Amino acid sequence: MVGVPGAGKGTQAKKISQKFNIAHISTGDILRSEIKKETLLGVEADEYLKKGKLVPDDVIIEIIKSEIIRDESMGGFLMDGFPRNLKQAVMFSNILDELGLKLDKVINIVVDKNEIIKRLDSRRVCINCKRIYSFDNLDDKNIVKCPHCGGKLIKRKDDSADIIKKRLAVYEKETKPLINYYDGKNLLVNIDGMGTEQEVTERILNCL
Ligand code: AMP
Repeated sequence: MVGVPGAGKGTQAKKISQKFNIAHISTGDILRSEIKKETLLGVEADEYLKKGKLVPDDVIIEIIKSEIIRDESMGGFLMDGFPRNLKQAVMFSNILDELGLKLDKVINIVVDKNEIIKRLDSRRVCINCKRIYSFDNLDDKNIVKCPHCGGKLIKRKDDSADIIKKRLAVYEKETKPLINYYDGKNLLVNIDGMGTEQEVTERILNCL
């Protein structure tokens, strides 16, 4: 699943992977969990995340390799936030070839630029189940706990205005070229990411 930060990849990836009972591999979630645990990888990654920069490719590729060969991924998987540049896409393709696997589809969620800033600014994430909420859509604006599991809802550090700008610039330069790359391989499906969460889910399901 590709798309600009805030397009709704995480929210949709969670729903789609549950629907098909496949692993949801989010490199962002993995990195944030390592940062929280203060592992060596986490300490290194934190320097990049807090600046809105991409973590080096070799670090990400090691994570992806170990995630793909885990048992849970054997029935299929959905990548969320990976690949993030052409080099990662080529390395990913080589890993898949080695394992005799193939990508079925690349879903590009398309959202207006103006909407992105609004979404990222109002985004809250459950530290426990990682569910993503929009503060605007929560019925009770004072809510601090996840309506699903009771975990604490937080605003991601990199969802601050200055870091959002950097992440959008990184997307334009590094990640956007993936759209042409996967289009050239006839794998790309563009999905309108505007509308309700459920509407977007249905559009994705219709093309799978
Ligand atoms: P995300 O949760 O996908 O928005 O990712 C949050 C941050 O984690 C990004 O801004 C990067 O710093 C880092 N990150 C996540 N996935 C990757 C990746 N595939 N390659 C490099 N950095 C990544």
